[in-house]
Amino acid sequence: MLDYDLHCHSNISDGTLTPTELVNRAAERGVKVMALTDHDDMDGLDEARAAAAQHSMTFINGVEVSVSWRTHTLHIVGLNIAPAYPPLVEGLRSVRSGRGERARKMSDALAKAGIGGVLEGAYHYAGNPNMIGRTHFARYLVEAGHCKDVKSVFNRYLVKGKPGYVPHQWAVLADAISWIRGSGGVAVLAHPGRYMTGRDGMGKKTMQELLTEFVELGGQALEVVTGSHTPEQYAEFARYAEEFNLLASCGSDFHGPSESYRDMGRLPDFPLGCRPVWEAWEAAVKVA
Ligand code: AMP
Ligand code: MN
Ligand code: MN
Ligand code: MN
Repeated sequence: MLDYDLHCHSNISDGTLTPTELVNRAAERGVKVMALTDHDDMDGLDEARAAAAQHSMTFINGVEVSVSWRTHTLHIVGLNIAPAYPPLVEGLRSVRSGRGERARKMSDALAKAGIGGVLEGAYHYAGNPNMIGRTHFARYLVEAGHCKDVKSVFNRYLVKGKPGYVPHQWAVLADAISWIRGSGGVAVLAHPGRYMTGRDGMGKKTMQELLTEFVELGGQALEVVTGSHTPEQYAEFARYAEEFNLLASCGSDFHGPSESYRDMGRLPDFPLGCRPVWEAWEAAVKVA
């Protein structure tokens, strides 16, 4: 079992726990090295780092950047970033800036589909109003009785082709990688299996093209073990990591006790042959 968990969310983005609650939970569950990776926002890092110090846990600064690539939305996790690096701070500010207007459009679209008053309801669930997103809409729609759980709300209302889906332009892939790399961090392609499933999922050829471009732009790692992958996908993406000479990362992608595929920590070991992403910064510490 891995005692690293390098992908999770607090209520600074769309998790339900505060950064401190999240770190406490990770510590209780045996995590020794953790990264907080909120979507497009680094405001939880100071609190999480202080909480981690209380548990003698190693804390890694992280973020998960939303990216538009061709017709797909991708998530690029930055690990071991420097949160004060101005291009990263400014870049994330620009990524966040469209969320308010997108939320209004989502609410209008849902109103047309006969569901009113969603905007106010969704903001009620957003711990950080700058980071309003689909998960907050989903939680409100569950509360209002439209679906039994968050997953069903996504399937029925919030994914491409459904009434509450609003297309959006996120960061450009090259920018996201350069903000992360420029700050001294490692760029990780998050949960690659998710891009290959569903009605608009990419095929193997497009995944190959994506990984080629990702590496050319400075991407260094692939999330092999993540909450949304099956064991077959661990093996599949371990093979891609080997083919593209990428490091392997692991994280639960935990969002909250009642919503996630996987809780913090206790992640299964990498398939044989993977080189763990922490080699990137642990080697640097040894040299220094
Ligand atoms: P947003 O950045 O506002 O588009 O929201 C993206 C977030 O929605 C992801 O990080 C997940 O937490 C959540 N999400 C996306 N797709 C699904 C899904 N099919 N089921 C449940 N949650 C999802
Ligand atoms: Mn999320
Ligand atoms: Mn993600
Ligand atoms: Mn995530």
